[in-house]
Amino acid sequence: MAKAAPATLKREAEELREKLRYHEYRYHVLDDPEISDAAYDKLLVRLKEIEAEHPELSTPDSPTVRVGAQPREGFTTVKHVRPMLSLDNAFSFDALREFDRRVREGIGREEIEYIAEHKFDGLSISLLYEDGMLARGVTRGDGTTGEDVTPNIKTIRSIPLRIEESVLKKAKLKGDFEVRGEVIMTRKAFEAMNRQQEQVGGKIFVNARNSAAGSVRVLDPSITAQRKLDFFAYYLLVNDKPAFPKHSESLETLKQLRFRASDDWKLCDGIEAVVKYCESWDAKREKLPYEIDGVVVKVNSVGVQNELGFTSKSPRWAIAYKYPARQEQTVVNDIIVQVGRTGTLTPVAVLEPVQVGGVTVSRSTLHNMDEIERLGLHIGDTVLIERAGEVIPHVLKVVKEGKNRRAFRMPKECPECGSKIHKVEGEVAYRCVNVACPAKRKESLLHFAGRHAMDIDGLGDKIVDQLVDKGLVKDLADLYKLKLDEVAALERMAEKSAQNLLDEIEASKKNPLSRVIYALGIQFVGERTGQLLAEHFSSLEELAGAKQEQLEEVNEVGPKVAASIVDFFSEPANKQLIKKLEKAGVRPTAEKTKVKSNKLAGKSFVFTGGLANRSREEAGEIVKQHGGKIVGSVSKKTNYVVVGADPGSKYDKAKELGVPILDEAGFEKLVGLK
Ligand code: AMP
Ligand code: ZN
Repeated sequence: MAKAAPATLKREAEELREKLRYHEYRYHVLDDPEISDAAYDKLLVRLKEIEAEHPELSTPDSPTVRVGAQPREGFTTVKHVRPMLSLDNAFSFDALREFDRRVREGIGREEIEYIAEHKFDGLSISLLYEDGMLARGVTRGDGTTGEDVTPNIKTIRSIPLRIEESVLKKAKLKGDFEVRGEVIMTRKAFEAMNRQQEQVGGKIFVNARNSAAGSVRVLDPSITAQRKLDFFAYYLLVNDKPAFPKHSESLETLKQLRFRASDDWKLCDGIEAVVKYCESWDAKREKLPYEIDGVVVKVNSVGVQNELGFTSKSPRWAIAYKYPARQEQTVVNDIIVQVGRTGTLTPVAVLEPVQVGGVTVSRSTLHNMDEIERLGLHIGDTVLIERAGEVIPHVLKVVKEGKNRRAFRMPKECPECGSKIHKVEGEVAYRCVNVACPAKRKESLLHFAGRHAMDIDGLGDKIVDQLVDKGLVKDLADLYKLKLDEVAALERMAEKSAQNLLDEIEASKKNPLSRVIYALGIQFVGERTGQLLAEHFSSLEELAGAKQEQLEEVNEVGPKVAASIVDFFSEPANKQLIKKLEKAGVRPTAEKTKVKSNKLAGKSFVFTGGLANRSREEAGEIVKQHGGKIVGSVSKKTNYVVVGADPGSKYDKAKELGVPILDEAGFEKLVGLK
């Protein structure tokens, strides 16, 4: 057994969780963060560290579960105690008035109080809380039984994993209740996801609703975690019944409980007020950060709801008013190609201009070649397009083949810079790899300046925009030619900050080879690959001249990465760039660890717990200086496990496997420090 965690650590973990919970709420529910992302990450990293070293301190409601648990084999089904019914639809205001008439007649009253809410377009979910803790998340399924998607749901940051005691008290609620609501994807998250999918050649989703549903119903919760989902709560049940006499009270309480609930619901006296609400939101809904496909109208009094009851499919006390769909037919006059910020070529349909829901549409993205093939689209065809909110419209299908239709082909050269277009085997995307291609200049510069690349502080997007737009910087090497007066003349710059930026740029020349390689932005070459390459090649020239086979000799570099590097350096503009950088003074050489001896050659080390005389990094450096290497986990092949204060499970593993164990003094002796 591992040593029991000290009480101080336990307390620290609890405090971290409470802090993280609060900041999650500020960020994801209130949209009003108090601390920076970096500060948040720091808290999370510390908590992860504690939980990794002391797994017994992990809890199911810990914010660390937000990254997603292990994938599962399948879903288990769960029966809903109170069925999750669908809603009756109304496609016109007259249908709404008809609904109102039925309600009034059913109850025998002149006027009814309604609540009008946004109809969120996503996936409905039931969340069960026990003792204030999220115990289970279930999809609607067929209304009677749904799928248990708890680990996926836990990754959604606007869903509280635990409701604090004080909050429950204020809301006059015990810890056991059920919240129902909708998992949605904001327009921004949806577009970002499709852009990402375009890059990697993944599935393109047609709308935010499908992508939200698809992202929840996956077996691997870490995929859900990457998708930036949101949750809007709209029902609160206690003992399977509405929690309060009025629905409006439930909506207010949900906010108190720190759920994200809409601010835009409205209490309406009579149906005409509801109609007004629907009309006013039809005009404004495009401006919302998420999509709504209608308005849900509910009788406010739960007593009246109970009197009206349910049909087998839906409640008689609620209805969904649906906004008309925004679809039109038009002709695809041409297909052109746009070069994205990362060099990906995206085909775009040039449409015969057409009005869709009051807006003229003349372009529509086709994402990639696969999508064009899936649609069977040729230039000249008539297509059905749909516009959902402010999102760029998309082509749903071909409705009629054009008489003189012709197939579209990807160009061989970049339409922006004329460089040769590359396509990686097995990938969908076509790319321009010229770093200096005007379409990707800004992105390349930002990547180059990034914290993990050349680390040029102060070179953010506002400055990059100006440098490129004013023609001061055409490629990465131009950065090193900037003059003080040029930089000081930019917006948001004073003489002093301009000098600071130039100093930063100058200092960046001293970066080690690994960082410079990474900073070039070669596809598939991340930080780690940069390091591995820097250990193998001694300069940029050497790397640039390397053949596919030589590259594949490098640890962890496979054929795909190697091909991407070869492609990159085969581009004349990139070769030119390397020369220019060298001339400007960026001449990194390999940062091989200074070898002091060979006495640890072939020996592997694992560290666990805190050392007293040095950091783990320093200890690792010493091992490398003597030819040894550091590995992350203990196996039979491990040569030494060095144990510091408060060691974790690696210590137990070492004992179990009989791997030699050293304390810090023993380690010092071994490496010859004592
Ligand atoms: P439909 O799927 O078109 O039958 O519409 C019914 C669905 O609308 C419900 O199952 C919920 O998933 C969803 N919905 C969206 N917003 C709300 C809301 N504010 N109140 C109730 N249901 C909603
Ligand atoms: Zn180009």
